[in-house]
Amino acid sequence: MDRAQFVEMDRQDPLAGFRARFAIPEPDIIYLDGNSLGRMPLAVTERMEQVAQEWSQGLVRSWGEGWMDMPHRIGDKIAQVIGAGPGEVLLADSTTVCLYKLVSAALAARPERTVIVTDDLNFPSDLYILQAVATEAGAEVRVVQSQDGLSIDADELDMALGPEVALVSLSHTAFKSGFLYDGAAITALAQQHGAWMLWDLSHSAGAVPVALNEWGAEMAVGCTYKYLNGGPGAPAYLYARSGLHPELTNPIPGWLGHADPFSFDLNYSSQPGIGRMTTGTPPIVAMAMVEPGIDLVLEAGIEKLREKSIRQTDLLVSLWREKLEGLGVSLRSPQRVERRGSHVSLGHPDGLQIARWLIEERNVIPDFRKPDSIRFGVTPLYTTYAELWDAVEALREGLESGDYRRTDTHSVSVT
Ligand SMILES: *Cc1c(COP(=O)(O)O)cnc(C)c1O
Repeated sequence: MDRAQFVEMDRQDPLAGFRARFAIPEPDIIYLDGNSLGRMPLAVTERMEQVAQEWSQGLVRSWGEGWMDMPHRIGDKIAQVIGAGPGEVLLADSTTVCLYKLVSAALAARPERTVIVTDDLNFPSDLYILQAVATEAGAEVRVVQSQDGLSIDADELDMALGPEVALVSLSHTAFKSGFLYDGAAITALAQQHGAWMLWDLSHSAGAVPVALNEWGAEMAVGCTYKYLNGGPGAPAYLYARSGLHPELTNPIPGWLGHADPFSFDLNYSSQPGIGRMTTGTPPIVAMAMVEPGIDLVLEAGIEKLREKSIRQTDLLVSLWREKLEGLGVSLRSPQRVERRGSHVSLGHPDGLQIARWLIEERNVIPDFRKPDSIRFGVTPLYTTYAELWDAVEALREGLESGDYRRTDTHSVSVT
């Protein structure tokens, strides 16, 4: 392979035009961290201006002119990205808080079952929440251990399931290795044991096809600031299958989830639909910024995005084999594309130092996850093929020259 081939792939890329829809003030920076914070869609600037007008001119009247409905309207758009129906997705809170609400509601709905099953590839926040809710509910968390630290077989999960399990809560794509569960098969497995299935889609939505309705999943959560490009700390979303809504009790109820908020009734009675999961007044300014990124994902189409993402992560794996494996870099992601999300993790004992060197000396921005993984995230809306070639070349040069060893990592906080 050579660079010219990668340039040619960019020329033939049917999604190439989407890159121009993002703010890219420094085109020389190779951004491979869209799986942590997506780039800013250009339409966000316009939307910010518009929200400022709605606030300054419309004042409180704007609540009746689109603000009140925003968590549902944008939720319905996210639903199209994750294979859910209208009225099943609500934009609300952080992912962590959304997870708390759903897990708590799931356990309360089925008190005869007292175990939550998850795995050790899941995101720390998810484990904290599962543990906290289990403690509150007098339940227990069972954590399936990955044998290789990268993936988990359906059989291994199966062994942890039984009639005592209320809920299986997993990340659809694992944040460290990028391992991708078979959503349909695992949902079916959980349900064979009578458990509800909850997917955390943070590393999937916008990059990997998700079909919650088709899988029959009961619940899901996910963030909007990764492949959905919703901005730093953008509100997350929660999904609950429509038939379940009557069974779900919001553990943090609030006046805007009340059936009739403006009755100012001192006794709580919840809305019939997904709106019952509302806690307080939604963060309208932040929510409005989420929409442009989702629109771009819908316009491109998730199948096309996945196609490009597979091709790009496959090329990264090929380049790793050709140029990096002999330099002591291991592949810390699954080799099989069907089991891999949209990032490739590369392992090296000096991973943190190498990642910092790439950022500081070579304008390549990956991220680092302990103990040794450098994550190269591919965002098919704006990652070019040439960038992948250049990033791997930079990494190869750093390893061959040993230059990266001069980089100081003492002051690093966010990686
Ligand atoms: C990024 C991510 C989160 C983020 O949680 P917040 O509460 O929104 O900060 C949660 N779960 C997973 C799997 C993630 O990848």
